[in-house]
Amino acid sequence: MKFVRLGEPGRERPAVIDDQGLTRDLTALTADLDGAFWASDGTARTRQALADGALPVLEAAGLRLGPPVARPGAVICVGQNYAAHAAESGSTPPERPVIFLKPPNTVVGPYDEVLIPRNSVKTDWEVELAVVIGKRVSYLDSPEHALEHVAGYTVSNDVSERDFQIEHSGGQWSKGKAAATFNPLGPYLVPADEVPDPQKLRLRSFVNGEPRQDSSTADMIFSVAHLLYDLSQYLVLDPGDVVNTGTPEGVALSGRFPYVRGGDVMEIEIEGLGRQRQVLR
Ligand code: MN
Repeated sequence: MKFVRLGEPGRERPAVIDDQGLTRDLTALTADLDGAFWASDGTARTRQALADGALPVLEAAGLRLGPPVARPGAVICVGQNYAAHAAESGSTPPERPVIFLKPPNTVVGPYDEVLIPRNSVKTDWEVELAVVIGKRVSYLDSPEHALEHVAGYTVSNDVSERDFQIEHSGGQWSKGKAAATFNPLGPYLVPADEVPDPQKLRLRSFVNGEPRQDSSTADMIFSVAHLLYDLSQYLVLDPGDVVNTGTPEGVALSGRFPYVRGGDVMEIEIEGLGRQRQVLR
């Protein structure tokens, strides 16, 4: 089962792709894939409605895929959560999770254009496992039950402008992470209980068809469960919020690859969660 949102920006409608690959309209259950839907057992209700044959088939051909979650209240990002990426960025691995913020209006669909910001010379890609929150996360006692708060997982491109991030920032990275269109999400959300182990997923990126990143979420310094536990000591995560869990090595910041330019194509993929593709403009 895969959750999707179909239609023009701001007017997407919720749908689910069933196990036969048919796209089915979810508007009988919810107006959108938002925090209220996840917090009210949306996944279980969708499964029941599918079993009851209650969801009509939707003709999806030709419809734009939006991000698979409605505008989140917050997009929390984890920095340097893979040791080899910390090294290529010139840093030692952190002893505690490092976080920064992306404005929620950076979130766009998985095949939407990505705009190179004005005065950018160092626009870069970052494939990441994105966690969508299903139940409020606050002051967890341990990482042990943290994953019970996850609605599902999707693919995220934490697009970054390295001069803005490093030279213009005073050490606070968000300036280089916040430009319009800088967070493609999708193509779909897979419910948490259909991802047996979020720490065993291969994640890859490509530019113009050439391989860039190729790693595994097994290489995270802090697991998804640990990240939610740690974040919950400092902030509240609400249903529908998104956590980008960090990127592995193989970005342009390493010096091994050129930064992207207008006309280039980024492709970002996670095993079992699908592939997204953006043309830069
Ligand atoms: Mn990142």
